[in-house]
This record gives sequence, C-alpha cells and structure tokens, in this order.
Amino acid sequence: MTPADRRCRTPANTDLESIQIIGGGLAGCEAAHQAAEAGAHVVLYEMRPLQRTPAHKTDSFGELVCSNSLKTEQENSAPWLLKQEMRSLHSLLMRCAEIARVPGGHALTVDREIFSREIAQALENHPRIEIRREEVRAVPDNGIVVVASGPLTSDSLAVDISRMTGSDRLFFYDSISPIVAADSIDMSVAFRASRYGKSLDETADYINCPFNKEQYSAFIDALLEAEFYEPHIPEDKTPYFEGCLPIEEIARRGRDTLRFGPMKPAGLDDPRTGRWAYAIVQLRQENQRADSYNLVGFQNHMKFGDQARVLRMIPGLEKAEFLRFGQMHRNTYINSPALLQPTLQLTSDARILFAGQISGVEGYAESIATGLMAGRNAAALWHGEKPIAFPRETALGSLCHYITHAEAKNFQPANITFDLLPALDPEAKRKLKHDKKARHAEVCRRAQVAFEEFFNGHSAREFCEVSG
Ligand SMILES: Cc1cc2nc3c(=O)[nH]c(=O)nc-3n(C[C@H](O)[C@H](O)[C@H](O)COP(=O)(O)OP(=O)(O)OC[C@H]3O[C@@H](n4cnc5c(N)ncnc54)[C@H](O)[C@@H]3O)c2cc1C
Repeated sequence: MTPADRRCRTPANTDLESIQIIGGGLAGCEAAHQAAEAGAHVVLYEMRPLQRTPAHKTDSFGELVCSNSLKTEQENSAPWLLKQEMRSLHSLLMRCAEIARVPGGHALTVDREIFSREIAQALENHPRIEIRREEVRAVPDNGIVVVASGPLTSDSLAVDISRMTGSDRLFFYDSISPIVAADSIDMSVAFRASRYGKSLDETADYINCPFNKEQYSAFIDALLEAEFYEPHIPEDKTPYFEGCLPIEEIARRGRDTLRFGPMKPAGLDDPRTGRWAYAIVQLRQENQRADSYNLVGFQNHMKFGDQARVLRMIPGLEKAEFLRFGQMHRNTYINSPALLQPTLQLTSDARILFAGQISGVEGYAESIATGLMAGRNAAALWHGEKPIAFPRETALGSLCHYITHAEAKNFQPANITFDLLPALDPEAKRKLKHDKKARHAEVCRRAQVAFEEFFNGHSAREFCEVSG
C-alpha cells in the first residue's frame, strides 16, 4: 500500500486505528486538524463541559483563557516569524485567527468567540475527525496518542502522566525568573564569582550585583510598593512550594528576609572592596552563547512596567534589557528535555507525543505551533513514515529544540524569542553589531531560507501536502 492509499484508509474501525488526541484546546485542535488533513483518522477528546478547569469559562474549542492576543505581527520579530511559519504550513488556528481578527495595533488580536466558532466548525465538519466529550483519565496503552491537555490537565490524567514519566518530571507550578541581555549588564559594577569559589570548572560562574545598605533599603521599599498582577485563577494566590516563593512575598515577611534568602551575599567577595556586600543578586548564564542571564530566584508577580523599574534599581542592571519578565502561575508541564525527542515523541514510548503548554512551551502561539508539529508527526507515524524535526534555524525548529535540549535540571517553559534561535555567524554578527533591527531581520531571513530548503527536500511523501 502506498502512503497515498493509506491516506484513504477512512473511517477507522477502532480507536487503535485512530490518532487519539487528548485536549480540545489550542494545541489539540491544531494537532487534530493537521493529522486529519494529512489523511489520518482522529479522535479528539475534550472533557469540558463534563469536567471544568479553573480557567476555562466555556465548553468551546480553542478557548483563549485570558488575553485575546496572539502577540505581535511586527515584521522580523520572533513571534511574527513563528506565525509566518505556521501560516505556510496551513495552520487551522492561524486561519481562524485571521477570520476573527479585531484591531489591536501590531498584535494579532482576535474576537475569542468567533475564533472558537471557526475552529469548531472546521473540526466538526471534518470527515476524519470524531469528537468525544469525555475526560481521559489515563494515557491510552495502545495506538498513537497526542497529549495536549494543557496547563490545567485534569488530576487523574496528571497522576497517570506522572506515573509514566516519573513523579519528579511533572511540574505543577511555573516560577519564571526574569532574563536580561548580557551586554546590558554594567560589568563595572557587577562582578563574576561563584559562592565560596565553588564551581564545577573552577571558573566564576555567576555575575553578581552587589548592594550597599542604602541601595538595598530603597530596593525593598520599591518592591513593596510595586503594582502586582491579580491572580488569574484561585490556585495562583498561593504558590505551591515554600522553596519557590515570589520575591515580594519574601520581602513582606521582613525587610531582611531577602538578604538571608535569594539575595544572600555570603561567600561572594566584591573585588572592589575585598568584602561581602550587604546583599547580592546573582545572575546565572541562560544559554551556551552566554548572551543572556537569569536573575536567580527572582520569580515575582510584579506588573511588567513596575518590574522593569524596580529591577533596574539593582546595581549593575540600571540599563538592563529584559528578554523575559518574571512570572508565577499554575502550570502542568513535563520536564521535556529529559523526556521528549525534537519530534515531540516520548523517548520511552515513541507512539506518544506531547504538545502545547504541557510540553514545556509558554503562550498561545507556541502551544498552537507544537500542536501543529505533533499533529503532523502523529500522522507520519500513522502512515508508517518517519516523524520529522524542523531545522534549528526556523522558529518551529528552535522552539522544539529548546524544549528538548534545555538543561533538564533548571527547565522552565519558554515563549518564542530570538534567544532560542541560533546566533548569527561571527562575520554577520560583526557586520551588524550596532544594528539590532538588522540582526533580527537577518535571523528571520536565514530562517525563511532554511524553511524553504527543508520543504523542497521534504515534499509530498514525508510531509503530506495539506489543503488549507
Ligand atoms: C490562567 C491562565 C492564563 C493564561 N493566559 C495566557 C495569555 O494571556 N496569553 C498567552 O499567550 N498564554 C496564556 N496562558 C498560557 C497558555 O498559552 C494557555 O494556557 C494555552 O491555552 C495553552 O494551550 P494548550 O492547548 O496547551 O492548553 P489548553 O488550551 O488549556 O487546552 C487543553 C484542553 O485539554 C482539556 N483537558 C484537560 N485534561 C483533560 C483530560 N483528562 N481529558 C480530556 N480533556 C482534557 C482542557 O479542558 C482544555 O480544553 C495562560 C495559562 C493559564 C493557565
């Protein structure tokens, strides 16, 4: 039987002959569409309205639980690049977003009801998609499965995923530290050192920002007076782990508490004074390129504007460029670098794929993107073909590369940013040193070339052409 013949094998007689997709959210809907368009038979499970989540308000497919924005459409930005790649791959949700679009400046903002309605129509009318409104309480033992049950995965399924992957590999809370660009740190103030000189390779691993007493006091005042985001859902009011509190909560417990916690100066000699500072913020290298650093233990709920203002009071970060702000919220996700392949298949059981927020990405567009990849790769498996990982130079490839290659020990979900894409070669970097816009444009150009070359090499057979 040729792949084309297999594509006509519809409808399936049993569930085992279908791709089973768990979750009718952003990732699950995109995965269902992609797999069905590639000729596979799909069963899409969604537990709402029978069982609710703390954030969803409707029983609609692809419900946007909070903002109605799929981020910027500004040309040559990383979120734009990701969306462009999805459009080229005939993403259903990108098409629905276009139909549901409302004015939102540079952002792709949508009318959430129209958006969901369009998705529902496409899925319900698809001859190869069967929809079942039920909770999947355990990952099916057989057949091809895409787990796309999202950040608020039901408890029984979460327990089963944790059994399957190892309980230390499923997280329930996101505590995201802010990240700054390395070249925006003032190294005439900050200094390199590891606590008590302890380092794996005898190097000074951390960048340290030292405070004197007055600076610390002013910082605590500003932190306590900052504006904070209201929790999205009741669970977000209390962080799960004492060991992972937001900095404002630590500061509320006493003016000196931070200085004995994440801002502890002990064991860090300031080379300019030869002594320990009054308090210290430590910055840890974020990627191999060493062009970004995260503020260790600085997860917080501050509004982004206030966060920039307050964190720029840290000595050495007065001109910091923030690549990501700190956040905390309820989020179920697996430790994908330890568990997944870049094709989004589970290493220990390749018939199971993960997509969406539970796979370790953050954000609407990123969830759709991994749904798209998982749907296509599930269809490839269904046809007896080899699942594919996209080139690293593309936004889709880099997103999947990040979630499967980041350091497993400190893994945190990520949005698409240029930080995830490979650096330009030294020559291009040198030429465009003083022109960030041009550097970003070059990264996007390179991604588009890699994307096209990849597609020319993987035409009909491996990546079945889908009809928009
Ligand atoms: C409160 C909150 C607010 C957020 N706000 C934003 C934002 O403003 N912007 C942004 O970019 N990102 C936001 N996110 C992050 C993320 O982008 C969204 O959660 C996004 O919807 C994730 O897509 P998904 O497909 O992975 O999960 P979801 O869209 O949540 O879809 C998962 C689906 O699986 C279903 N499900 C769960 N368990 C089962 C089961 N056992 N059986 C059957 N069905 C099941 C759920 O009912 C749900 O419909 C937010 C997340 C949360 C929790």
